[in-house]
Amino acid sequence: MGYFVFQPERLEQIGVQGHTSVDVSLHVFFGDISMSQNTNIQWCDSTLNFIMGCLGCELYPTPQKILAAIDRACLLAGISGWTKETAKSLFGEVLAQVWGTLEESETGPGQGHQNVLTTTNLRHLRQRMKRRAAELFSTKAGRLIQATIEKSLKCYAAQLHANRGFDLLNPQRKVNVGYAPTFETITLFPGRTEAAARFSDLTGAERDEKPWLNGLPRLIFVSDMGDAFSRKQDFAFLRSEMAAFQTPEGQRHLWLWLTKRPDVMRQFVDSIGGFPVNVCAMTTVTSPKTLSRVDALREVNAAVRGLSLEPLWEPLADKIDLTGIDWVIVGGESGARANVELFPVEWAIELRDRCREEGVAFFLKQLGRRPNRLGQEFKLRHQHGGDRSEWTRGLRVREMPNYFYNYAQQIVQA
Ligand code: SF4
Repeated sequence: MGYFVFQPERLEQIGVQGHTSVDVSLHVFFGDISMSQNTNIQWCDSTLNFIMGCLGCELYPTPQKILAAIDRACLLAGISGWTKETAKSLFGEVLAQVWGTLEESETGPGQGHQNVLTTTNLRHLRQRMKRRAAELFSTKAGRLIQATIEKSLKCYAAQLHANRGFDLLNPQRKVNVGYAPTFETITLFPGRTEAAARFSDLTGAERDEKPWLNGLPRLIFVSDMGDAFSRKQDFAFLRSEMAAFQTPEGQRHLWLWLTKRPDVMRQFVDSIGGFPVNVCAMTTVTSPKTLSRVDALREVNAAVRGLSLEPLWEPLADKIDLTGIDWVIVGGESGARANVELFPVEWAIELRDRCREEGVAFFLKQLGRRPNRLGQEFKLRHQHGGDRSEWTRGLRVREMPNYFYNYAQQIVQA
């Protein structure tokens, strides 16, 4: 057993946002099995990833989307000579140059780089893009490229993979065996769920650091380092891993399974006749553009459902339908200050009140890096605005769904 400790300050510099959370977990390795028995994520006890990697979302867009955003930024700024496809051709040029060097090397491009037009490659080559644009156009164009790329890449799971996985610029670098080779290479790790099921039973245990979890079984967040529903071809694997949720050991815990693809989750759950009673189906919504995920989540055959509204980029209280939803987690964006969106605390208050009206448990996780009240930005000592002692009393709400307490009773009585 060993420990891999990554550097939170580095995450902060590069402007990283999590799949749902930028909180830093302590990853414990059992041979090649990685998971977090203890995590700093405030709404759970542990994390589990039997699939690492993901095909992206609004927090980690495709390279095509990022390149189009660079074009827009440069055209808007009036960079002389810049046209609509310039970013793409610039990236192609830089990539071909690096690729050529690699093909001559003994190491080769490595698994996961068969498709070279990946966001991971764009992230690794961003400094070269910047330099080339400065040579061909202007330093301003180079700066715009860098800023657009940094602002687009907010997924911390992807950033960790970029830091620990295969890098075209550093092919000899040691790759972390517990991770996908590159973020876009969906990688299966059989047996992790069985190991997580063996985590100790926390039902009735006091959590000094997270008292809002007292009285509950161990809460295990599934998929914080990827999205297990990126591909339907993994369904058979998911079924085999899920068997451990229902063993006597697995039944002592609640498994909180989050995806940004609840429509695919629904198809999977239908194929198994419904989620077991100790699985909470969850999805993330960041703005009205992704609200359809809530409708899709309602269609998932599950006994309990939760939403993670983090990072919250726009107000949702008057737009969201909470029918069939048991739990709402809210958080402002964290990351490097220049790259994050403002988080008016009024959005959290409105959502708290909506949840109260509709009997839904509300959990305010953090105010983010740029909290704002009545149009005025304010500073907090905690970098992510996650220290509740700095909040006004009305914001200090961290509730858990009644369903979780009822499940704890069932465990005790069994
Ligand atoms: S892991 Fe989550 S946040 Fe990251 S790209 Fe995938 S769906 Fe998006």
